[in-house]
Amino acid sequence: MAKKNSNNNNIGGGGSIPVKCSFCGKEPSYTDIMVPSPLGEAYICSDCVDQIEGLLKEYLNEGHPQKSSHKKSGKENHAPAGKLPTPKEICDFLDQYVIGQDDAKKYLSVAVYNHYKRLAQTRDEVDIEKSNIIMVGPTGTGKTLLAKTIARQLDVPFAIVDATVLTEAGYVGEDIESLLVRLLQAADYDVEKAERGIVFIDEIDKIARKGDNPSITRDVSGEGVQQGLLKLLEGSVVNVPPNGGRKHPEQKMIAVDTKNILFICGGAFDGIERKIAHRLNTHVVGFTGHAVRAKVDSDNYLKYIAPQDLKSFGLIPEIIGRLPVLVHLDPLDRDALLKVLTEPKNAIIRQYEKLFAMDGVKLVFEPETLGFIVDKAIEYKLGARGLRTIVETIMIDPMFETPSAKVKELTITREYAEEKIKKAYIG
Ligand code: ADP
Repeated sequence: MAKKNSNNNNIGGGGSIPVKCSFCGKEPSYTDIMVPSPLGEAYICSDCVDQIEGLLKEYLNEGHPQKSSHKKSGKENHAPAGKLPTPKEICDFLDQYVIGQDDAKKYLSVAVYNHYKRLAQTRDEVDIEKSNIIMVGPTGTGKTLLAKTIARQLDVPFAIVDATVLTEAGYVGEDIESLLVRLLQAADYDVEKAERGIVFIDEIDKIARKGDNPSITRDVSGEGVQQGLLKLLEGSVVNVPPNGGRKHPEQKMIAVDTKNILFICGGAFDGIERKIAHRLNTHVVGFTGHAVRAKVDSDNYLKYIAPQDLKSFGLIPEIIGRLPVLVHLDPLDRDALLKVLTEPKNAIIRQYEKLFAMDGVKLVFEPETLGFIVDKAIEYKLGARGLRTIVETIMIDPMFETPSAKVKELTITREYAEEKIKKAYIG
């Protein structure tokens, strides 16, 4: 079924091929497999295939004479009140794809559950406000993966955007409104649907202002952008250019109310540990000082992150106030990396096994090979992000040769892996 394109997208994370799902607009890197139509003019992503499969099942089981109701109107596009996934169910789903990060999973599950409830609430004097989230953790620990996995499970439009492309209106780069263009696209330009969606803003730390003091000169990519973002986080009606890009006076705008949109931000906040350590050390003086200091785990200062550390890093207090749920992600140790390779439903090794199985070949990685791959990722300081690069380097020749060879089983030994890595990196 999957042609050359879809395999490439799947393996390489998608980046280079300019294809999109013709149904939801998702790019290859945000889905497992992108299946081209027989003529190659259209694509469908595996998430849409899953959704269609579910709809068909529902349709057939219920023996509906009429067509399925999951169509455009937008109101039907979130889980019906009776069938809300509980936080535990959301967390169980995350567990299938993401290793560790239990705290982050718990916070995210609750936030998403409450998001559903807020959408279902009836208007009375108690108005449930949203709790936007900020995830802080080293690169390659699963922030984007958590966001993507939630997107998989959710029945609301979801967009992942990168804060680094944003600049203050009028400067080179994208306007803040561009965040909402992606969401609108994910909602098929159904504004009502988009207004219930979730936006993941990656690399939020890159728009921190430099230093703790407000600057006197213009800070094009720092505070100005944060001020713009604040408007979205607080909830306001924003005019969005439907096709993205710069606003043109003659362009028709779409008004989007961000009041109910849930924002999840993520960032590595490189160096924030020093600020946390500094705060802990200055705060523990006093009569309980010794006890607290003794308990501090100096290998993982992120555990103790507090809003004031984000401020020291350069986020403005107003933004911090609008991101009340602050979660940290733990660094992945050797055991966790081994699990990342093999355990998640979408684990890297499983993906390669599937690729080979499609050619009728049983692919086996010896346990020592897996250990070697993890050790190399640690040695090169690549973390989980590097696992795929290393496996890809080892597998390029077998992927080239096996489809034309008459092989039924292929075992990747540690010696073979070592040889390939040696050639690629050292030789
Ligand atoms: P970041 O924290 O920088 O956003 P990503 O979520 O993009 O990191 O992780 C990069 C890749 O590393 C993912 O695609 C995934 O394969 C793997 N990965 C990282 N963390 C985890 C984790 N906790 N569980 C499973 N896989 C992970």
